[in-house]
Parts: sequence; structure tokens; C-alpha cells
Amino acid sequence: MFEEHLARLRKVNLERKIRDRESPQGPRIVIHGKEYVQFASNDYLGLAADPSLVNKAAEAMTRFGFGAGASRLLCGGSSLHGELEKKMASFKGTESALVFNSGYSANVGAIQALGTADTVLFSDELNHASIIDGCRLSRSATIVYRHKDTADLEACLKKKPSSRKIVITDAVFSMDGDIAPIPDIVRLCRAYGAYLYVDEAHATGVIGKGRGVFPHFSLGPEPWIIQMGTFSKALGSFGGFVAGTAETIEWAVNTARSLIFSTALPACVIAASLAALELVESDSQRIDRLWRNREKLARGLTAAGFDISGSETPIIPLRTGSIENTLRVAGYLREQGIFAPAIRPPAVRESRIRITVTAAHTDEDIERLLEAVKKI
Ligand SMILES: *Cc1c(COP(=O)(O)O)cnc(C)c1O
Repeated sequence: MFEEHLARLRKVNLERKIRDRESPQGPRIVIHGKEYVQFASNDYLGLAADPSLVNKAAEAMTRFGFGAGASRLLCGGSSLHGELEKKMASFKGTESALVFNSGYSANVGAIQALGTADTVLFSDELNHASIIDGCRLSRSATIVYRHKDTADLEACLKKKPSSRKIVITDAVFSMDGDIAPIPDIVRLCRAYGAYLYVDEAHATGVIGKGRGVFPHFSLGPEPWIIQMGTFSKALGSFGGFVAGTAETIEWAVNTARSLIFSTALPACVIAASLAALELVESDSQRIDRLWRNREKLARGLTAAGFDISGSETPIIPLRTGSIENTLRVAGYLREQGIFAPAIRPPAVRESRIRITVTAAHTDEDIERLLEAVKKI
């Protein structure tokens, strides 16, 4: 049925293949029996296989069993769900927070819930696909502004003086590793009476001493700011969240379809998220190590002649030109025992190797990557 479509993808080198691990997530992974040093995951703090998360999850599984059995609004939640939401709200400095089944599900559900018919959404052109899908599911008109271009955003806001407005942006952009100009966006939201919705998927546990983009810029929470994030990346667990006023969260509980019509996360997953959040709150060593590794890698890549000036975070794209060349480079790195993914359209406009470095990488891991990329 899709033969022709697939053939067309293959012809332009845009066919994708899933490569599953035979090992835990970490700086070294095994795929098809071969070990790689990997720079592909978003496990920024190296928590995905951390014993404290695994033990807390096992304890919760003993107490609560595995399956949640129903959505949160029926009887799918455990007492741990509420505990995690309280902890996340205090971590974010908001009145309230709500756990979703993934970051994807949080964006799709929350943006659909907030995006009423009398609202206009203003979305950065490089926002994550889950934001784009949330905008599509909403009943709101959506205006896309140029990437991080606050002059363009202001021109767009001016055109809609009377409607309810929500500006939506990634805090850290997932493919370029750059940070949104939040202080300027906050100023515009104040001036034009707009709400602000920020996706902290790659900011939580990474910038602002792990607390995200607002502490990063020395800004506090505001009742008109909604923070969204995920437990699946730096926190090494699984799930998503939205944090804001009690009223915003109550509205989401009543209207977010991805929350209402989907079974709750198992309690053991929530227990792992709780353990990760406690680690990030109490111990900055992992975050310090992440940034030391990031600086070491950035210095090495710059010395090797790569222009990485757009990246400000542990996400560092290497521009490798055409799709064919990018695939060739990724293949060459794999031969060298290094797993770093080729990212191609439609995920990005320009193909690239997307490198992510974590706190768990050793100096030798980073040197091995640098040796290999020098030969590209
Ligand atoms: C990964 C990602 C998500 C989705 O989070 P999951 O927990 O993986 O579903 C949402 N927004 C951004 C910016 C992301 O990078």
C-alpha cells in the first residue's frame, strides 16, 4: 500500500531505520553486538540507568504492582503521582503542576487545552513537533514567528490587539542547542498582555543549575507563565509535566484530552522521576560535570575547525552539508565505534550530525570523538 511512498523516501536518502540497544542507556551502548561510545541520547545527567532510580522504581513496583489500569481521572493514579506534582511545583516555583504520560503528550494536551477559540497562539518556527501538533489540535489561530526574532514576534503581537494571546517557545531548541531570548520575550508578553508557554524539555536538569531557563536568566515564575517539561531527558525517567497556577492546572485536568483519554503512568515510573528530581535538587555535581564535558567538547570541535557558535548547550550540531554527506559521516563515525545520529529533513531543514554530550562521558570518550571528527 505504501510501496511507492517508501521508494520515494529511499531514493532521496530519507528512509529511517530503528536501531535498538542490547544494553542499558549510557555513554557506551551495544547495538547488534557492537559496542559504541554514543553521543546521541538526551540522558544529559547519566541518570537513565542510575541505581537510585532503578531501586526506587523496583520498590514502587513491589508496593503498587505494574500497570496503572485506568486514566488519572478514573483510578489510575497512585499517591506517588500527587507527590511528584507537589515536588515539581515547588521545584518550578509555581502553585501547581500536572504529570502527563510523556513530554509529547504534555504539549499536545496542554496546548490543545489552553488554545481555546478566542485565543491566538504565537509559535517560534523551530519549536518542537509536539508543540506544532498541540497548536494543530487547538481551536486557536496560530501565527508562526521567525526563529528567536523578537522584532518579528512584536510585529505579530501588534496585529492581534484584542484577543487572548499565548507565546509558545522552546527554552532550548532541540536540534540547534540554542537558548530562546526569554528576557526579551517576557518583556513583550508583559507589554502586549500575552501568556507565555515555555517548553523546558532540554532545559530541565541542564541550565539554570537544573531548574531551567527562568533561573538561567535570573527571572522568577509569573502567574501568566506556563512551564512545560519532561522527565524523559536529563531526569533519566519517563513522562512529562506542565507547571503553572492552580487555575491553569485545573483547566488542563478538565480539558486536556491526552490526559483524560489515556491510562496513567505506572507508579514505578513516577517513583523513578521522584528519585531523579531529588538528585537534581540536592546534588549539583552531575550538572557541573555535564558543563565541564560540554566545554571540553566545544573547545575541541572549535579547534578541529567546526563552527559551533550557534550552540549554547550540550546539544552541538555539526553541519555536514547534503543528506548524502551527512549519512556518510554518520556511517564513518559508526565504523570508528562512535554513535552520533544523522538528522535529516523533515526533522530539520539542514542535515547535520547532532552531538549530545552528557555528565557520564569520560575524557577518553570525548577525545575519541574528537580524534574521529578530525578525520572527516
Ligand atoms: C523530546 C521533546 C519533547 C517530548 O518529550 P518526551 O518526554 O520525549 O515525549 C517535547 N519538547 C521538546 C522540545 C523535546 O525535545
